[in-house]
Amino acid sequence: MSSAAARFATAADNASSEAQSLVMDMRKALNSMKSLAVDFERAGKPDKVKQLEEEVLELMASYEDCAHLAEAVKDVPGAYQLSDQATDFKKLIEAEVNKVKGTSRVSGDSQRLLRQFREAVWDVHHAGQPMPGDEQEDVVMTSTQSIILNIKCPITMKPVIELSNPVRCQDCRHIYDKDAIIDYIRRNKAPKCPVAGCPKVLPHVARINCDSYLLMEIEELRSSGPGATNASDVEDILDDEEDLVDDDEDGDN
Ligand SMILES: [Zn+2]
Repeated sequence: MSSAAARFATAADNASSEAQSLVMDMRKALNSMKSLAVDFERAGKPDKVKQLEEEVLELMASYEDCAHLAEAVKDVPGAYQLSDQATDFKKLIEAEVNKVKGTSRVSGDSQRLLRQFREAVWDVHHAGQPMPGDEQEDVVMTSTQSIILNIKCPITMKPVIELSNPVRCQDCRHIYDKDAIIDYIRRNKAPKCPVAGCPKVLPHVARINCDSYLLMEIEELRSSGPGATNASDVEDILDDEEDLVDDDEDGDN
């Protein structure tokens, strides 16, 4: 890589991590607004709750834009081609943002955050009752599902909330202890995701990393406490699927 290209890549990384930290701040703000709305609901101030919800919707739109940008900016150096004509970076970035929008999980995440907000308010007076509009089961599933897919590293069996170096496979979204998964990949020729029942053959180690949202999602799982997530259900499903796993690690361990 030429030094100009390297500088460009570094600049893109920096821009991306700045956008990411903004995204994380927004996410924290959304959580605070949720607690505030719950307080207002308890205090019998539905107008304030309504107002907060409108603000949440606005913030959500910025959240999505910013999260898409954070993802897209990283890809700009790869898309950039040296030519004798001046590059229209605005256009280049827009094109990357549009690409990211098509594949990103961001809008699913923000729908889930909105859903959590509404659910927290609803539960103040209607705990245990389904929220209006929840009749369609599939809607409930996608919106309340935890985005942490496995709560323990399948290799070390350590809870993900206790991992000092958690990483996630960007294909199947399973989470592992970093050293353990790297060692596992090294020992196996066509390493399959070690989560029971996951058919994924692990991609290159570069695609198994600590993506920008992983630490935040783990932190949210940690602060939501036991029982607040459906992670134990996930664990049950995984236990059931244990039998399905064939031992074809074909490694030399
Ligand atoms: Zn997997």
